Amino acid sequence: MTIDDYADWAATVAKVTRPPTSERLSYLGLGLAGESGEVAEHIKKLLRDGTLDQAAMAEELGDVVYYWVCLCVALGRKPSEVLTASRAKISARLTQ
Ligand SMILES: [Mg+2]
Repeated sequence: MTIDDYADWAATVAKVTRPPTSERLSYLGLGLAGESGEVAEHIKKLLRDGTLDQAAMAEELGDVVYYWVCLCVALGRKPSEVLTASRAKISARLTQ
């Protein structure tokens, strides 16, 4: 499975439309923020308790990707293209 295959599936499940409604875009953005917060919570617990539930954190990272790919699709972008552009941007920054 490629990330674009996953995005096609996720966008269908999440009922992503093009163009997205403001409500759907908000829902997806809040979902991304919420799941990112769940990842941050695991890191906070690592600092507080000294333990990290790696399996649970990896599950939350999957939830982050779900909302992230849906937002890519909502904007009419293939996740693989967004990743390629991100890699180019970061690589250019590193060579400065
Ligand atoms: Mg979650």
